[in-house]
Amino acid sequence: MRPISYARATDVASAITTVSADPERAFLAGGTTEIDLLRLNVVQPSGLVDINPLPLKQIQELADGGLRIGALARMSDVAEAPAVVERFPMIAQALVLGASPQLRHMASMGGNLMQRVRCSYFRDTLSPCNKREPGSGCAALEGINRGHAILGTSEQCIATIPPTSLSPSSLSMPSCILKGRKGSVPLPSTISSSCQATPRTVSIRSITAS
Ligand SMILES: Cc1cc2nc3c(=O)[nH]c(=O)nc-3n(C[C@H](O)[C@H](O)[C@H](O)COP(=O)(O)OP(=O)(O)OC[C@H]3O[C@@H](n4cnc5c(N)ncnc54)[C@H](O)[C@@H]3O)c2cc1C
Ligand code: SF4
Repeated sequence: MRPISYARATDVASAITTVSADPERAFLAGGTTEIDLLRLNVVQPSGLVDINPLPLKQIQELADGGLRIGALARMSDVAEAPAVVERFPMIAQALVLGASPQLRHMASMGGNLMQRVRCSYFRDTLSPCNKREPGSGCAALEGINRGHAILGTSEQCIATIPPTSLSPSSLSMPSCILKGRKGSVPLPSTISSSCQATPRTVSIRSITAS
């Protein structure tokens, strides 16, 4: 049995501070990935900071035509929001194609962007995986890698990052992910209105604590 601390966040700033102070701590949102990985012993955080009490569920229309989507907005709520369906249909369609209705009701947008790689070797603790255990090797290089990345690979890892279904609709998302890994998220994220005219240039322009 491995002890793990659990805390419910009371405000964004202290949630970020708590997780940033210890790289072994992690945020918990819908739990649809994090709890699976915990059970499989793939991740072993010392503590979880449950961010569900935070007021980050908004889907807010901005004066410049963009949208600000809270980190805790559920995938299903974003997919059904009139502003998304009408003005950003590519986002709505990408979300509906992901996972299942039950998962989309639980899964948050922040968790979707921050989910870990979906390489099967990452989840198999008997296989070498540099992502899970740096220096152990990469089983996917010579293994089953049909669904792996075409761009942005390295000799150490060829997994698709981020693995979210939103990725093809937002090639600029990886920069947000990196920002998040450094501890600047929970987010609201701002989706540029540029996707109305040129869908392939959808971008999340900023992730800032609110
Ligand atoms: C069976 C199955 C099928 C799936 N199919 C798809 C699919 O087709 N397409 C797709 O895109 N996804 C798919 N997923 C992944 C799913 O979308 C994610 O599990 C979900 O979006 C994660 O959101 P969550 O709120 O549950 O995050 P959690 O599980 O709570 O967290 C996931 C990760 O994000 C971190 N995190 C959560 N919120 C934040 C935040 N605000 N700031 C910083 N870090 C944060 C957590 O620490 C953790 O590392 C699937 C998952 C399952 C289980
Ligand atoms: S591609 Fe290789 S290093 Fe990357 S997650 Fe999969 S097994 Fe691990």
